Amino acid sequence: MNISTLTKEQLKVSSYNVMFSTNHENIIYNTRTGALLSLDNKTSDAVLDILNSLEGRADYIETLLQNGFVIKQDFDELESIIKIHNNYMNDEENIDITILPSESCNLSCSYCFIYTQRDIFMDDITYDNILKYIIKQVKPFGNKTVNINWYGGEPTLSYKKIINFMNNLYEIKKEYNLKINSSIVTNGVLLSRDVFIKLYNAGIRSFQVTIDGDKETHDYFRKTKDGEPTFEIIFANLQQISELDSSYSFNFSIRANFLDDAEESMHGLLSTFNEKFNSDKRFTIYFRPIYNFNTDRKDIKAIENSICNLETGNKVQLDLEYAARLSQSDSNQMLDFIPKPIYSWCNVVKKNFHIIGADGTIFACDTLLVDKEDGIGFLSNEGDIVLNQNAKKWKQNFLVEEDNLKDECLTCTILPLCMGGCRRNWIMDKKKVCSLDMKVLERIVKRYVLENDMITG
Ligand code: SF4
Ligand code: SF4
Repeated sequence: MNISTLTKEQLKVSSYNVMFSTNHENIIYNTRTGALLSLDNKTSDAVLDILNSLEGRADYIETLLQNGFVIKQDFDELESIIKIHNNYMNDEENIDITILPSESCNLSCSYCFIYTQRDIFMDDITYDNILKYIIKQVKPFGNKTVNINWYGGEPTLSYKKIINFMNNLYEIKKEYNLKINSSIVTNGVLLSRDVFIKLYNAGIRSFQVTIDGDKETHDYFRKTKDGEPTFEIIFANLQQISELDSSYSFNFSIRANFLDDAEESMHGLLSTFNEKFNSDKRFTIYFRPIYNFNTDRKDIKAIENSICNLETGNKVQLDLEYAARLSQSDSNQMLDFIPKPIYSWCNVVKKNFHIIGADGTIFACDTLLVDKEDGIGFLSNEGDIVLNQNAKKWKQNFLVEEDNLKDECLTCTILPLCMGGCRRNWIMDKKKVCSLDMKVLERIVKRYVLENDMITG
């Protein structure tokens, strides 16, 4: 961008700048572009002058312009955010399908939100209908990316059907020049080395298991239907998978969910992970606070007081993520735990994203899979997804909809990082839950600067 021709009247300051100070530096972060400048006192005085007057050193103004801290007068930042969200919602390149081959489970976890399992399995007709749907979506030009995520219930209960489906999908791939990505979310109990290899050979390359802490904590929550503990079974499976040679190229992530009082247990889990998988770059671990069960179930009410609030949940998450990254053998890379601008808080809003239940019911959100009433449509025998009136509220651009919940978001500096947060809260609870606040953002940004020791003078 050539600024020599721009006058101060042609410039304005971004509405998405946030500034934080430490003892040694001033930090400016732009939530819309994700750009961050950490400045010593002398430079920061000059930069603040520019942000006040839009005049000053040309090279500084250029840097501020390139990073979105200063923008052209005629650029509408909010409009650009609305457009980005809209493009994401209407993405035609990807077909994203989450399939529930089994709405049954081999475990009986005390807090499972899919408590009233429908206890059904997908029949062959529904698998065929999904293939018909994909063919209809990729005709006539092909060249699309089909992203299939296997979910449940427990999908490995149906692993033979999954393999059959994937083989059929790869036949379609040849005809329509598709790119296929496939992942699976499993509790890991039935994921023996043998089952893993079969799923891998069928084209699944991304695997996720959820662990709830060290052995003691995990076994308290995650038991088989007979009340047997599962931690050692899962880790024995993962260990065997890790012994597969490097020609097996896959990502295996362990999602560690934690309650408010589980920090110590999570560090125990991290130690176990490091001991077993630290040298295997195919395995990663990440941590997520449990914020809200949103249920009346009595057994969940019993642990209600342990549910994380935003501030402590985020702090513990950050501590654990840094501990995990720093313990990796190649930890000289940047520690990149800083919020980035996003297209949407999650993918439920995408026109071409659907969750297909075992009986062909279409669901919008993976925490609302039990009640058919929550369904947003069904998959027909012709391979069409027929949406009902519930679908509209999930698939509309919240920034332009007729709902005053959005008013605060439209003027919120954090909007590009949060994009209104969880859609389910808006729709089911008629409220929004901010996924970030300035206090939490300040702590994350300051820690990022501290850990990476970045001062740009
Ligand atoms: S709407 Fe909320 S609960 Fe549902 S998938 Fe998105 S973030 Fe998760
Ligand atoms: S939900 Fe809250 S933090 Fe997120 S954009 Fe809206 S007002 Fe901002």
